[in-house]
Amino acid sequence: MPESAVKLAARLRAKEISAREVMEDLIPRLEARNRDLNAYVTLCPDQARKQAEEIDNRRAKGEELSPWAGLPIGVKDVICTQGIRTTCSSRMLETFVPPYDATVVRKLKEHGFLIVGKTNMDEFAMGSSTENSAFFTTRNPADLERVPGGSSGGSAAAAAAGIPALTLGSDTGGSIRQPAAFCGCVGLKPTYGRVSRYGLIAFASSLDQIGPFAQTVEDTAMLLGVLAGQDPMDATSIPGPVPDYLAGLHGDIRGTRIGIPGEYFAEGLDPEVRAEIEKGIKTLEGLGCEVVEVNLPHTEYGIAAYYFTCTAEASSNLARYDGVVFGHRANESGDIVEMAAKTRAEGFGAEVKRRIMLGTYVLSSGFYDAYYLKAQRVRTLIKRDFEKAFGKCDLIVTPTTPTTAFKAGEKTSDPLEMYLSDVYTTTINLAGVAGLSVPCGKDSKGLPVGMQIISPVLGEENLLQVAHQFQLAHAC
Ligand code: GLN
Repeated sequence: MPESAVKLAARLRAKEISAREVMEDLIPRLEARNRDLNAYVTLCPDQARKQAEEIDNRRAKGEELSPWAGLPIGVKDVICTQGIRTTCSSRMLETFVPPYDATVVRKLKEHGFLIVGKTNMDEFAMGSSTENSAFFTTRNPADLERVPGGSSGGSAAAAAAGIPALTLGSDTGGSIRQPAAFCGCVGLKPTYGRVSRYGLIAFASSLDQIGPFAQTVEDTAMLLGVLAGQDPMDATSIPGPVPDYLAGLHGDIRGTRIGIPGEYFAEGLDPEVRAEIEKGIKTLEGLGCEVVEVNLPHTEYGIAAYYFTCTAEASSNLARYDGVVFGHRANESGDIVEMAAKTRAEGFGAEVKRRIMLGTYVLSSGFYDAYYLKAQRVRTLIKRDFEKAFGKCDLIVTPTTPTTAFKAGEKTSDPLEMYLSDVYTTTINLAGVAGLSVPCGKDSKGLPVGMQIISPVLGEENLLQVAHQFQLAHAC
């Protein structure tokens, strides 16, 4: 049975259990399981215990609290937490303690969530396995020899293992959905602009988006409701009210048109993954959804357009790490140029350096038109593909990943092979639409398979509704 934070919150409200008791149960379990999983870079149990006590005291006094007060949560180490170090799993930021909270962290605190630690990730969110973390690789709770996916691998592993069942991640090209699929939990990348990026350490600003991990779609809906909304600190956040995602979960989904794009079921898709997704589609049909064929003809250019765009943006976003303001500074260097060069050589890992070099190259004069500009044109075509497809259907269903979790070390020597594992997720970020991965069976090795459900811009209500009813109906 998946762990439900919404139910736990109801028990907290009814005073059947205290926040302190929740912590006393969680922390030893978390510490023990984390020894195998390496899901956390930093743990803050003492602070979480103290805050749990505060919640209990306020509740005892009869203070009006958020319905979610006292729920524990883990936060990806790319999201700034005041007073708790935020490393991006990089040597560059190993000792960086942010002087402020990201907007999402402020919102979590206002709702009385208790942050238990910061989760491991690929350095600066660049990767698909957490093997690019400067510190250690996180393991998949379904099989410790395998990767949990990435870049939010620590958050996915923690949520799937229930340490705790709620975590935050970030998704630039699949970093929430792919690890959710690999670990067997739910992960949502909201519409671009649905959740504030203020305090999210930038990788590729036109693609980055924060989102929730949970074991149930219901918890995912609850957490999105907490995180979403316009923020004056992020000009790309979308104005307008936030729907009550939880209340919407039980609505009638009969007649929902589910688009199936042939391009996502072509060569390269593991037959066992395909079989599970096909069973998933049958379940949706059983719930009264109508399956229609759609086309996303520019899918094959998605990976190239994504890697040109994200590396270009990363090369400029990461220029700030020069040893002057943030993080690591090399000692014993001569002038400022030498100091910056040495700092960057020491502070960044191989993949981050590769991306900065690629990004600088695609932006350089003479190559800009051929690479960066062309990628932006392809991005527009991909966006139009989705707009056209959503003229024929309400939601689109695809596999989240072409394979189940691979073994640690299997793809580290070949970056291109690693990049190709993002083939079904990057297009969603390029188009700015929302995508969610929900567990959809297991392969013959017992490894989780994830089904991706995609909605148009701001279509999260309908997306969560269908995903919720799918999760209740689909045995896996
Ligand atoms: N795996 C993709 C990459 O390496 C996506 C990363 C992400 O979404 N942050 O860029």
